[in-house]
Amino acid sequence: MIERTLSIVKPDGVSRGLTGTVIGRLEGEGLKILAMKMIRMTKAQAKGFYKVHEGKPFFESVTDFMSSGPCVVMILEGEEGIRRYRNLMGATYYKEAEAGTIRRDFATDIEKNVVHGSDSVETAGYEINYFFNALEVAGG
Ligand code: ATP
Ligand code: MG
Repeated sequence: MIERTLSIVKPDGVSRGLTGTVIGRLEGEGLKILAMKMIRMTKAQAKGFYKVHEGKPFFESVTDFMSSGPCVVMILEGEEGIRRYRNLMGATYYKEAEAGTIRRDFATDIEKNVVHGSDSVETAGYEINYFFNALEVAGG
């Protein structure tokens, strides 16, 4: 099934100059970029984005982190796009991520793990609509 997914190069990835590397890897995997922009989330916007994690011990910290600097947000599309992009990213904790994944290669911390990717069709729908309106989906 052709799926859309939301990708974010997180503030650590942008500030460390890893945006191009992430884009190169996802394009190399054959995922198509339908929309892309740089944003800086407020704390409230980061809380809305990570709403599913409200109440978890890391919620305050991760929403501080996500609002600490600019992010690059993208809509990606491809056959099994959600799973294929998650495979490129690797496990949440970089030490558990497979060799050759973005997180294994570049993450420095369980929180500062360079990239985000939607984990289901439902969350992809929510996350895409959170950041993009229909006019911004230039490639779709
Ligand atoms: P993402 O949703 O960002 O793609 P993920 O789906 O791999 O990551 P989630 O469980 O959704 O992982 O956690 C969201 C984010 O919160 C993680 O990517 C990480 O930045 C942070 N995080 C998750 N677990 C922890 C933890 N135990 N301690 C600190 N930060 C964490
Ligand atoms: Mg997640």
